[in-house]
Amino acid sequence: MLSVIEIYRSIQGESSFAGLPCTFVRLAGCNLRCTWCDSEYTFSGGKKMSTEEVEAEVNRLAPAGLIEITGGEPMLQERALLPLMEKLLAEGYQLLLETSGERSLDLVPKRVHKIVDVKCPLSGEGGTFRLENLHALTAHDEVKFVIAGREDYEFARDFTRHHRLDENVNSVIFSPAFRKDATGSRDASHCLVDPREVADWIVEDGLNVRLGLQIHKFIWDPATKGV
Ligand code: SF4
Repeated sequence: MLSVIEIYRSIQGESSFAGLPCTFVRLAGCNLRCTWCDSEYTFSGGKKMSTEEVEAEVNRLAPAGLIEITGGEPMLQERALLPLMEKLLAEGYQLLLETSGERSLDLVPKRVHKIVDVKCPLSGEGGTFRLENLHALTAHDEVKFVIAGREDYEFARDFTRHHRLDENVNSVIFSPAFRKDATGSRDASHCLVDPREVADWIVEDGLNVRLGLQIHKFIWDPATKGV
């Protein structure tokens, strides 16, 4: 059984798939506590669903296309999640898995696009990424750094260079963090670091990385859940 917070259809807000219609399967539970987390409602609760029930709901929402498995930390439910991913892949869906990389990713099917959120120092969870997971990354995977200040940017820059990430994965994304209590206006004033500053830093340092804005927070109120 899987513990599921919500399954819904929306627009993918992040990664190189940003802007595409996507079905989200959001699982319950997380073993980290990032300072800027906007998904604290996943930390407890969740509805128990069998893989067949999740599959049926995903099929009902869209018979084909893009699915993102997210959380929380989905890999905490690896035992039930792996068979679900295999089934959805066999049905022809394109699968994204959003994970912090704190758990081993060795058994994730290679056809799944992993989006690995390596935690930076200002998240309060720096150092939790399991370095062995670098070997599990494939050329279609993505590595994301959520940046809350210059210290995070420098960590992300140095990590990217040291591990030559931009040569080994599809996209390296530097994403300015949003205030977790952001609401009202739908603009970059809610970012903990100005995206323009991050853009300048990337250009100054000649990095081959993508500046990623969470576009769902510019489409809907930043406090809206289930989008
Ligand atoms: S890993 Fe994700 S869900 Fe868990 S605390 Fe950090 S941002 Fe929130």
